[in-house]
Amino acid sequence: MPFPGLEVPHLCAQCDDYPCVKSCPVGALSVDENTKAVIVDQEKCTSCGDCIEACPGNVPFLHPKHNKAVICDLCGGDPECVKACQEGGFNALHLVSDSRMDIHKKLFARDPLDVAKDLAINLFGEKGEEVV
Ligand code: SF4
Ligand code: SF4
Ligand code: SF4
Repeated sequence: MPFPGLEVPHLCAQCDDYPCVKSCPVGALSVDENTKAVIVDQEKCTSCGDCIEACPGNVPFLHPKHNKAVICDLCGGDPECVKACQEGGFNALHLVSDSRMDIHKKLFARDPLDVAKDLAINLFGEKGEEVV
């Protein structure tokens, strides 16, 4: 992050048009009918990186060990990250229905650097002065 202390979520937003899935030249990506999560077939993945380029937030990444694409699969519909966050008392992550995600999808599918810059401007102003 270019601004110390500013952390933004960088997660798959399950875009309505799934540009990552469309970009995969070998059909390694599909959409789970029930959860709407992107599913990676690691047997088919050739590690080309096209899905990373196609994603508005460059969300997919290549695993440092097996070098295959990794994308949040929503843990099959029961997200472990949400449970851990709630159990830890942070209350920052919530599971919401798809119908409530229209605005959030656009936000979370953005490049995290752009989101961090907007947050910094909101918090500190265009020239760095703090906005109260
Ligand atoms: S956020 Fe990225 S990885 Fe998730 S569905 Fe959209 S394009 Fe695919
Ligand atoms: S990195 Fe793998 S999943 Fe992504 S576009 Fe290339 S082959 Fe498909
Ligand atoms: S814990 Fe599961 S739902 Fe949460 S980001 Fe990881 S894969 Fe996605």
